[in-house]
Amino acid sequence: MVIQTDALVLREQNIGENDRLITLLTRNSGIVKAFVKVAGKAKSGLQSATQLLCYSRFTIQIGRTANRIKEAEAIEVYFGLRQDIEKVALAQYFTQLVAEAAPEGNQSDELLRIMLNALYFLHNGKKKAEQLKAIVEFRVACMCGYMPSLECCDVCGETQGERYIFDYINGVICCAECKGNQNGAYSVISDGVLSALRYIIDSDISKLFSFNMSDEGFKVLSDVTERYIITQLQRSFSALDFYNSVKEL
Ligand SMILES: [Zn+2]
Repeated sequence: MVIQTDALVLREQNIGENDRLITLLTRNSGIVKAFVKVAGKAKSGLQSATQLLCYSRFTIQIGRTANRIKEAEAIEVYFGLRQDIEKVALAQYFTQLVAEAAPEGNQSDELLRIMLNALYFLHNGKKKAEQLKAIVEFRVACMCGYMPSLECCDVCGETQGERYIFDYINGVICCAECKGNQNGAYSVISDGVLSALRYIIDSDISKLFSFNMSDEGFKVLSDVTERYIITQLQRSFSALDFYNSVKEL
């Protein structure tokens, strides 16, 4: 079977001398892995359209045991990001996160739209990196089976508190008075941060990147979303560690 789909290249690995294995976030089929023939007889356009962070139109031969890229034509190339070490680190973290969290073979149009929007804003510098990071981390978590419950205090049901404890392990909030789980994996969050988290969960994707906070607010938000996703996935990401070591303080 041969399929045609738009997709973003999330990961590339060299396999032997003749092949690369690329991981794609496709528009309609979730995560798809496929081999690309290296050099030799392969066309150079195929090579450039199948590199990390390329958004391309792919023709893929779906095999019984392995898939192979037959053709690829670049639509948008985020090479400009490679000039900026902080931006490229963040972009690579986004790709690692989605490659880890997104299910294979599922409908993935919304996930792809979020990624393309985030890369677009990262590329043109019109949104703060910390805002993009918070949106991608939290919305991707929600879409991939890690949706927290942020409507009200998990203990007493209060909805009007000024400060809440966000319990990263159980994915719930509770008022400071109610305590709830305090095993270390939690933060005390303001109503501003809580509003932003709720916005990221509920917003239509066309408006997802449109909310605003102070620079300090985005930093706090990004710290909260990072701790939530890392706690939920129970793993670290090399690109995230690198981003945190190079970002402007
Ligand atoms: Zn309460």
